[in-house]
Amino acid sequence: MDPKRAALLRQLPQVDDLLRRPELAPMINALPRSLAAAVVRRVLAGQRQAINISPPEALPAALNDAALLRDLGEALAAAAQPSLRRVINATGVIIHTNLGRSPLGEPCLAPLIEVASRYNTLEYDLAKRSRGSRQDHLEGVVKELTGAEGVLVVNNNAAAVLLALNTLAKDKEVVISRGQLVEIGGSFRMPAIMAASGAILKEVGTTNKTHLKDFETAITSETAMLLKVHPSNFRILGFTHEVSLAEMVALGRRYGLMVVEDLGSGCLVDLGKYGLEHEPTVQETVKTGADLVLFSGDKLLGGPQAGLILGNKEVVESLKQNPLTRALRPDKMTLTGLEATLRLYLDEPRALMEIPTLRMLTCPVAELDRQARALARRLKRRFGSRLSVVVVGSEGRAGGGSLPQAALPSRALALTVPPLPPQELEVRLHRAATPVVSRVEHGVVLLDLRTLLPGDQDALLGVLEEVLAGLK
Ligand SMILES: *Cc1c(COP(=O)(O)O)cnc(C)c1O
Repeated sequence: MDPKRAALLRQLPQVDDLLRRPELAPMINALPRSLAAAVVRRVLAGQRQAINISPPEALPAALNDAALLRDLGEALAAAAQPSLRRVINATGVIIHTNLGRSPLGEPCLAPLIEVASRYNTLEYDLAKRSRGSRQDHLEGVVKELTGAEGVLVVNNNAAAVLLALNTLAKDKEVVISRGQLVEIGGSFRMPAIMAASGAILKEVGTTNKTHLKDFETAITSETAMLLKVHPSNFRILGFTHEVSLAEMVALGRRYGLMVVEDLGSGCLVDLGKYGLEHEPTVQETVKTGADLVLFSGDKLLGGPQAGLILGNKEVVESLKQNPLTRALRPDKMTLTGLEATLRLYLDEPRALMEIPTLRMLTCPVAELDRQARALARRLKRRFGSRLSVVVVGSEGRAGGGSLPQAALPSRALALTVPPLPPQELEVRLHRAATPVVSRVEHGVVLLDLRTLLPGDQDALLGVLEEVLAGLK
């Protein structure tokens, strides 16, 4: 073996010696002993491997003790953190699927903690003093908000689509427009879900135009359902035509077929009133007479991950009888967060203030401008010339396959921390105790104000303190 390589390997400290190093004590003491030892062993194995595979000319003259301690410190600190944890979303994308989609509103938290940590009425009917159904808790509020008589909640909207198809159209044909065979987020593809459900896909029309007569000529004795799917994350523009839900409902009635709409996002307020693109609301869709309306709990609704199935009571009842329903059922935390979120909608102005997704979506750019300037002033006062910050125009997005057309005018802080290049600054923001997810545009790190939640601005100051301390 190369003598330099052998010498470096000999210089690697023993696990026990490292576990006694005072510089590492705070991190080691925060962990169970066996876990700390395992982390140290893993880092050492990595170092040994790096020395073994490095070409001789790239080997350092001696082991860099300071760098080893830094790596160990970082690995030990990371091991003390849960893997699933808070981040600051400074991307400007509100319903960010990678960052947990919709944060729950403050009024949902107390009921969540109480139900999660105590016994509760999940499947107990206090009035009848007997077993109840977890699916009954939302019936009242859903009927009040949407007029729908039947409601069933499953784990997500993909599960809702699967369950509806499997119950109502297994081994039967489902007619859908070619323009609506969507893929959402890579793993939800309408033809794949259709196949998994056992329903037979019958696509009609063309990518840009589908007419009522295309649906009508496709109907046979094998047809069970007419399905409409919201083109969540794209738009077909120009020479287009699609069949309205009302036309599909009339056609379905004539032939005795189920008519189902997968709304995707499922919005309960008319966003058109707040200067955004109009999305068909859940209420409108229910009123048009679809047998079932399906949508997500954690997109525009602003609740926890869930799939909501609303509609005709008997049809919903038939879904409840499907054994798959048991496999797709939501837990008590989901139901609590969802009920609390839905209750906020009973008072629409309150919903817009207290449901973070709606609040961020409708926040006027003038307000973001004011906040951006105030935050920039705070950073300048606190950090002086150690960093530079400029308020710039920015564009946020609804995200989550909602309102794909809408670029939301926003404000961002363009942040520079000399001497760090922007990519390196982005990495250090990610590595902070409270990680910050930002965008890099035109060679500068942008922190978008639209997606900052209460408390995030204060946390951001701590993060920058940490990044600057790391430069010394
Ligand atoms: C997002 C979406 C889904 C999937 O919903 P999840 O809640 O993510 O499972 C299904 N259909 C449409 C049209 C969507 O936009």
